[in-house]
Amino acid sequence: MTDTGKSSQQLIKEANMNLVFRLIHKNGAISRADIKKITSLSATTVSSLVEELIGEGFVEECGIKKTKSSGRKAVMLKVKADGGFFAGLDVKKNIIRADLYGLDFTLEKSIERSLSDGESLAMGIMQAIGTLSRNKKIIGVTIGLPGVIDPGTNSLISSTVLAADDVKDIYSILKEAMPDVDVYIKNNSGLIALAEKEFGNHGRADNLISVDINDGVGAGILVDGKIYEGSGMGGEFGHMSVDFGGRKCKCGSYGCLELYASVPEILSLTETSSLGELAEKLSFGQKKKEVLQVTRALAFGINNIVNLLDPEIIVIGGSVITLGEHFLDAIKESFREIALIKDKKIVYSDIKENPVTLGGVRFSFDRMFGF
Ligand SMILES: [Zn+2]
Repeated sequence: MTDTGKSSQQLIKEANMNLVFRLIHKNGAISRADIKKITSLSATTVSSLVEELIGEGFVEECGIKKTKSSGRKAVMLKVKADGGFFAGLDVKKNIIRADLYGLDFTLEKSIERSLSDGESLAMGIMQAIGTLSRNKKIIGVTIGLPGVIDPGTNSLISSTVLAADDVKDIYSILKEAMPDVDVYIKNNSGLIALAEKEFGNHGRADNLISVDINDGVGAGILVDGKIYEGSGMGGEFGHMSVDFGGRKCKCGSYGCLELYASVPEILSLTETSSLGELAEKLSFGQKKKEVLQVTRALAFGINNIVNLLDPEIIVIGGSVITLGEHFLDAIKESFREIALIKDKKIVYSDIKENPVTLGGVRFSFDRMFGF
């Protein structure tokens, strides 16, 4: 909601409006008097901003309670969950997952669709958003992609998974179809890290690394609470080499972490057919030696990041979580063996929603309401 063409008065009003909305969002239920007290805005300003937020459909009154500040009875305000919706998309090679969240971040609807023959990724994305937006007022769309995104043009620069041409114009196509909706295209790993900070139950760390292990291995980096993207990439953790004498990788390097710790490689190294089967074997104390190759590779990768960035916490997510505590303990053990800082917090993700779409929604929210 920022625009350089606006007068300073408009910008101040917008900043105050965002401040009031964030406060209502954060508190669950709050009175006008308490908003006045916390923000130091005048009663008249608070009243008129609240009226405008109610008019927009973002906020509603929700009964009478004693205020925190004076103890007197006052009308309480809360976010109107269905007053606007955010769409979050997690785009993979041929599958698009699209989730619709209310203004209060509750998951409203989920769809997953594979691309049909001859359908471009852009068309698939449009279709998915179209299905989600039926009868709903969508105010923000964030698309998470596995690849390097140019933050200036919102286009995909490179990806080992998607063809750049497939998603090159997606931003302009979406903006043309929905000119009033804020659209963001982001690397999926960064969105996962943001989701972990905001919605994970491991104490809101501002310096956090999320490691996502599925068909590939990615890492999202949060530095001082913000997604770290470098010049657009940041997070190609799977292509960090853990063995320069190792196998050649499709990225051009040798011994990349992805060649040891992606799910297909884990299954191949342990000669198992599914993560469920491997989890069972681990619980009986089997496959320890084979898993050690995986956890050592992961520990080296994680240790490289820790030595460089010293995050407060490393959160491991993705389908690999199926392997359970035995696998996590093995990672921690491998890490302790080589790390300078041995007690670094390494945990599994506990987010139930898709972390890419949830992080995407949080990203839209922060951008739109001035975080
Ligand atoms: Zn590589």
